[in-house]
Amino acid sequence: LRRNPGEVEFHQAVHEVLETLGPVLVKHPEFAERKIIQRICEPERQIIFRVPWQDDNGEIHINRAFRVEFNSALGPYKGGMRFHPSVYLGIIKFLGFEQIFKNALTGLPIGGGKGGSDFDPKGRSDAEIMRFCQSLMTELYRHIGEYTDVPAGDIGVGGREIGYLFGQYKRITNRYESGVLTGKGLSYGGSRARTEATGYGTVFFTQEMLKARGDSLEGKTVVVSGSGNVAIYAIEKAHELGAKVIACSDSSGIIVHESGIDLDTVKRIKEVERRRISAYTEFHKDAKYVEAGNIWSVPCDVALPCATQNELNGTDAATLVKNGCIAVAEGANMPTTPEGIQIFQSAGLAYGPGKAANAGGVSTSALEMQQNASRDSWSFDFTQKRLEEIMINIHRDCFETAEEFGAPGNYVLGANITGFIKVARAMDAMGLI
Ligand code: NDP
Repeated sequence: LRRNPGEVEFHQAVHEVLETLGPVLVKHPEFAERKIIQRICEPERQIIFRVPWQDDNGEIHINRAFRVEFNSALGPYKGGMRFHPSVYLGIIKFLGFEQIFKNALTGLPIGGGKGGSDFDPKGRSDAEIMRFCQSLMTELYRHIGEYTDVPAGDIGVGGREIGYLFGQYKRITNRYESGVLTGKGLSYGGSRARTEATGYGTVFFTQEMLKARGDSLEGKTVVVSGSGNVAIYAIEKAHELGAKVIACSDSSGIIVHESGIDLDTVKRIKEVERRRISAYTEFHKDAKYVEAGNIWSVPCDVALPCATQNELNGTDAATLVKNGCIAVAEGANMPTTPEGIQIFQSAGLAYGPGKAANAGGVSTSALEMQQNASRDSWSFDFTQKRLEEIMINIHRDCFETAEEFGAPGNYVLGANITGFIKVARAMDAMGLI
């Protein structure tokens, strides 16, 4: 704590992992002797830099950007870039720390990293977004590379931003290095199913948790927070698997549509028109918009938090349990507070932490890197099949590890221990690095 003052989200993420690792250190005392935990909590490298840019009126703005290269024991640093005014070092470090374990869980050769900026993209024109991305890459390019560090998207960074970032990287370096960024457009090296991957993966994971209890998503009522990239494709896959999503949201309010959220409308509002979710009621008179409403008070069988960190607290968790919710899977990173997690676990519902449940995005990013390395392009069905297999394997590994370490059904412990052991073994094999 003293070493990283004020980084509350980072402390929270580290605490959540460390409190489950006790049994591993008993089984593998060599990890404690060689101080693997102390080493894993310290990023290998942290970069903080200035991003100056000009808006459409000629006014100058200065933002701050970060790239935290946390751990490269398993492969190049891999993790998204987030553009949101709340971004500071503590947020990027929490995301980077989580990413180490998540990436290890995928079974693919990727280390952990994360980056972002306190830039607020809301209300900015395409030209402003482009100038900001170009300015950011003018510094970032020297730190990244196909074999070093491979950024992707996150909150506020989607296909448009990745396009501008890639264009500037290519221009500065004079290299068509496809594998330097993932989440690219299909016309220049992107992977099919990457846009859908995190949301789809979260729903595949939910389906596996329910299967393990002899149940399925068929006929279930689902609530999804957010209406961004992860939320949209979680809704799509939940509908495909026979569930009905009845609510979604943004940071201003919630939409409740008892007959089922119409995804074409959400896509049109969010992906094409780039408007607020409140516009949904213009198209569906029987839907309700509640300004500043609490989505977790909407009764459901399954809850999928897909917006942001700490969006679901202890009171919300208690409400979900009281309303009969049987499963929660996190599309977002660390959306449930420690009190919320405790309530879910003591109520015995199926709770899938983000590290495991949202690993489909980074997995498909790693598949994009494979396609780029082999100059290949796979079909949607083939890529989606691989994503589904990866999510099934992650579920199985977390489930079996939880059993092995005496905590059946505890996916938090299962995910943390599975990821930690993979990274710890690699770090140990490489000597004191
Ligand atoms: P988007 O920017 O596409 O969407 C984010 C959504 O969450 C928007 O609806 C946004 O509403 C809402 N939101 C963001 N910040 C807040 C806030 N402070 N309070 C309330 N709502 C908020 O991001 P993604 O869908 O890509 O990311 C969502 C979550 O999923 C994040 O936690 C991210 O780290 C995680 N994730 C994303 C992956 C990916 O592949 N994209 C991979 C793995 C995890 P508004 O427009 O009002 O801000």
